[in-house]
Amino acid sequence: MARTALPGRLTWRVARLIEARDETPTARTLVLDVPGWPGHLAGQHVDVRLTADDGYTAQRSYSIAAPADGDRVELTVQRVPDGEVSPYLTEVFSKGDPVEMRGPVGGWFVWRPADTAPVLLVAGGSGIVPLMAMVRARRAAGSRVPFRLIYSVRTPSDVYYADELRRRARDDGGLDVTYAYTRAVPEGWREPPRRLGVAAVNTAGWPPDLEPACFVCGPTGFVEAVADILVALGHDPRRVRTERFGPTAGPAESPTASTAESPEANPASAAKRPTASPTEGPTAEPAPGPKEARP
Ligand SMILES: Cc1cc2nc3c(=O)[nH]c(=O)nc-3n(C[C@H](O)[C@H](O)[C@H](O)COP(=O)(O)OP(=O)(O)OC[C@H]3O[C@@H](n4cnc5c(N)ncnc54)[C@H](O)[C@@H]3O)c2cc1C
Repeated sequence: MARTALPGRLTWRVARLIEARDETPTARTLVLDVPGWPGHLAGQHVDVRLTADDGYTAQRSYSIAAPADGDRVELTVQRVPDGEVSPYLTEVFSKGDPVEMRGPVGGWFVWRPADTAPVLLVAGGSGIVPLMAMVRARRAAGSRVPFRLIYSVRTPSDVYYADELRRRARDDGGLDVTYAYTRAVPEGWREPPRRLGVAAVNTAGWPPDLEPACFVCGPTGFVEAVADILVALGHDPRRVRTERFGPTAGPAESPTASTAESPEANPASAAKRPTASPTEGPTAEPAPGPKEARP
């Protein structure tokens, strides 16, 4: 297929790392410069592709962590032990290094500053990333739409964006943040660690009759459990939008959209040698970008 026939979001671009910061001991925010970036909406994600010298490629999806800002795209990557791609991005990828990127992807799991319904965000672990983009987009647009964020993490040291969330909950009128700790709680916390349940979602969320837009993101099991809770509490399933980060049981549901064009190759080698030159031909059809996004 000729490159000119590809819409912008299907084109692989070369992105370069311009800044990186640790969010937790195992998660790192990457700020990339992506010349020609077409812009994006809060909630969308990108595909990132690494290519080894032997041509083996590994491709993963990563949510965009911040609203559109020219050619800058910000991601936050959680290191998955023994993973093919995330250890490279969190431990090896350095300032000036290239990686291939295409997007933005996804037109349903998005929040627009023009939306007026109250918003409930429910994050499990790294699922906070696209929801943080929504919190930041609200602030950037000066929106007064009331937001409630329920953020489930294992321990206090696993909280991403901790200082910024504290500041925004204090200064951004109409933003409430509630934490749920599943393995260890901060000192003086009033409850033992526990998984998010009906009572917590009911207390920290919005009543269904306010017709909030609900966004749930995290590991597959977490997302399914929270979506069930919201529906059981009376939320209209059409207003519950979900994004699953994986992992899942089988390839048919693979959350990672991996592309193993040379399955016998050593997967880890792909992560060590990303190419600087994008090639053509997307292997999956991304959902609509900002202009074509569903209403
Ligand atoms: C739409 C979308 C957006 C995403 N956004 C983000 C994001 O913003 N930040 C982020 O860190 N990740 C995100 N992910 C997950 C990401 O795409 C990768 O799945 C993740 O980085 C692991 O890739 P890997 O190559 O390191 O591990 P792999 O080599 O794919 O997997 C290694 C092992 O880890 C398990 N595993 C794979 N993925 C996960 C996971 N997410 N959690 C726990 N175990 C896992 C596998 O089952 C396997 O056993 C997103 C996924 C999707 C579908």
